[in-house]
Amino acid sequence: MGYEVWGLIRGQANPRVRHLRQLLGDVRLIRGDLLDQGSLIAAVERVQPDEVYNLAAISYVPMSWQQAELTGEVTGLGVLRVLEAIRVCSGISSSRTPGRGQIRFYQASSSEMYGQVRESPQTESTPFHPRSPYGVAKAYGHFLTQNYRESYGMFAVSGIMFNHESPRRGSEFVTRKVTLGAAKIKLGYERQLRLGNMHASRDWGFAGDYVRAMQMMLAQDSPADYVIGTGVTHSVEQLVDTAFRAVGLNWRDHVVTDAAFIRPAEVDRLCADPSKAKDELGWEPKIGFEELIAMMVDADVELLASSGGSAGEEFGTDSW
Ligand code: GDP
Repeated sequence: MGYEVWGLIRGQANPRVRHLRQLLGDVRLIRGDLLDQGSLIAAVERVQPDEVYNLAAISYVPMSWQQAELTGEVTGLGVLRVLEAIRVCSGISSSRTPGRGQIRFYQASSSEMYGQVRESPQTESTPFHPRSPYGVAKAYGHFLTQNYRESYGMFAVSGIMFNHESPRRGSEFVTRKVTLGAAKIKLGYERQLRLGNMHASRDWGFAGDYVRAMQMMLAQDSPADYVIGTGVTHSVEQLVDTAFRAVGLNWRDHVVTDAAFIRPAEVDRLCADPSKAKDELGWEPKIGFEELIAMMVDADVELLASSGGSAGEEFGTDSW
């Protein structure tokens, strides 16, 4: 698409870099850390980007109770540091608003901000009631992005993304845990899958569709926030049923619930109203739930067959 893409990497000898290079041959990498303001300023100065996408976060909800302060620093204050890096490098102050050619900023906001939902489906104007330190930190990033738009006239927008999945999803998240679990049981590597709350429901979509929406948001004439989701909700139990049926198994023979995966506060049901994105961006998801889960199960069967059953263990699926 004519993009030159740079990825920000953190840490010394980060073990994910090798994996990343195999996956994304064309992406150039630059060092920087959301905890380090100077490193972000240096990265923006070096790359001179037209667009910045902040997809970085501590994003696993259970971990946000274990490391609540770090989640606030990375997922919340990290947004401030990226916005400040853009502002400083663009020479924007309250008395000097950006001109043409300004850097456009995308913030990955989350449906977890709705938490205990006030209405269903959720729109751009549904009030937030986050239910985890992660949701609280994302709400901070969301409001700060709006605030930088209003304070400095920056082209800064948030996509309120509902859960988006793909075969690349970490195995600690329920979709991948289930597709990997079903594939392992099918191939005889395991007999049982232990899960938490089977009654929770989510609006699950395909990550590729959501990335397309991000790009469309930054290509608009004027900055605005959008809900991105499918508008269709399924329970964890329906997810499990779909994944196990895809490999010809009955989930009831293999899935057990385990209190270790129950969270201190739960988000029961999320469902997007993506009409604004459809009307203004012309965005619609191309891949539905059944197709998404079948894609993930197929990819996991293939991965396990080629790796001798050890796939997905780099992240672990331990309880929190
Ligand atoms: P989240 O919506 O960002 O928290 O995404 P997750 O994929 O981590 O969790 C989605 C839902 O699945 C939540 O309501 C969880 O409580 C529920 N769930 C049930 N069992 C599990 C499990 O074993 N692992 C995870 N990650 N979630 C589970």
